[in-house]
Amino acid sequence: MSVEKKIDQVTDDVIVSLHYVLTVDGEQIDTSREDSPIDFLQGHNNIIPGLEHQLYGMKVGDKKEVTVSPKDGYGERAAEDIKDVPRSEFPDDIPLKPGVYLQVEDKDGFLEEATIVEVGKDTVKLDFNHPLAGKELHFQVEVVDLRAATAEELDHGHPHSPGGHHH
Ligand code: ZN
Repeated sequence: MSVEKKIDQVTDDVIVSLHYVLTVDGEQIDTSREDSPIDFLQGHNNIIPGLEHQLYGMKVGDKKEVTVSPKDGYGERAAEDIKDVPRSEFPDDIPLKPGVYLQVEDKDGFLEEATIVEVGKDTVKLDFNHPLAGKELHFQVEVVDLRAATAEELDHGHPHSPGGHHH
């Protein structure tokens, strides 16, 4: 005999399969609809907090419109995250043009992502803000499936199902 806890709504420690459409400034910028739903472990910061908080209590088949403010999404834009970097620090093979998205290694070896804002004679202005920082996010979501997380998934803090985390 096997006893399984029946999962009938989104609560902490549940693996949620979710379809979503993300719209920002009236433009659809991302969706799971052309692919499989995303899987994540509810209550473990697998997704942005403003979305996660509004999923509690949803059942399989439920749909919802969720609006997430910048502070619960990708954060506010910060002026101090826009920095001038000497041109000499850029390798020759990088096209220095506004809008180009770069990976930048900081002095401690951490990789950061940045967008070129402006290219000057001696310096390049880089914006280290997340591209969606300062934006209100509009999600249309549908709960496709719910299941209990395994002990291993709880231990790792993420799902191991298809569409989730791969090792
Ligand atoms: Zn894992």
